[in-house]
Amino acid sequence: MGAAEASGPDYSGALENGVRRVVARALPDINGERLDALMAELFGLADSALAALVAKDPPRRAIACKAGCAYCCIVYVQVTPLEALHVARSILARPAAEVTAVRQRVAAAHATTVGRDSDYRIVLAQPCPLLVDGRCSVYADRPFACRGANSADANACRDAFANPDGPLLPTFIHQSKTYAALGHGAAKGLSDTGTHPTLLELIAALHLALAHDDPLAAWRSGDLDFTSARCVMAKHEQS
Ligand code: SF4
Repeated sequence: MGAAEASGPDYSGALENGVRRVVARALPDINGERLDALMAELFGLADSALAALVAKDPPRRAIACKAGCAYCCIVYVQVTPLEALHVARSILARPAAEVTAVRQRVAAAHATTVGRDSDYRIVLAQPCPLLVDGRCSVYADRPFACRGANSADANACRDAFANPDGPLLPTFIHQSKTYAALGHGAAKGLSDTGTHPTLLELIAALHLALAHDDPLAAWRSGDLDFTSARCVMAKHEQS
């Protein structure tokens, strides 16, 4: 996909279709190395598409997101199995004591979030178990949804998460739409190859994946089943 197509009128549709093809092609032979390469390719596709959009239609206000600002890291994060496995692999590559600590944090977070929807998570306001000292500990490998989240005003984020019925956040829509297209394309590519479920809740998916020393191999063999981590729709999303 070229920059012109990526920034054209249906840029998110073009990106989604491109990602769908890349994922469907890669999946049958996926292993750890290929998953890393696939994720790098997907991140690159979205980053290039977004750069083309920014050049053509830059944000009206500067993006305020920066290291240490984590007001949004309490929300329900929807991921594909590819993202969950990629994050799990990056955690499992760390020293044993760190892996144990992350497993414990994920298990504790899972105990309070299991089966809950996105509305509940806003009320719960529980920080993501991957947040350490206010920073994302898997930043380079973070999910698509986390990459798409953005705001021009950190104070507006603070207020919005304290009062979800308040004004909408001042977001750069191209960033949100680009990474949403990445997720939709990946989910469709997974579905094309017979993978189900394709959309999971991050903490539940990690809780399952981190129970295995090699979650990708376990997923491929059927020992890791993500069914219980399927996304739970909030009431306002069901209509
Ligand atoms: S994965 Fe990282 S960026 Fe996403 S919610 Fe968790 S801490 Fe925040």
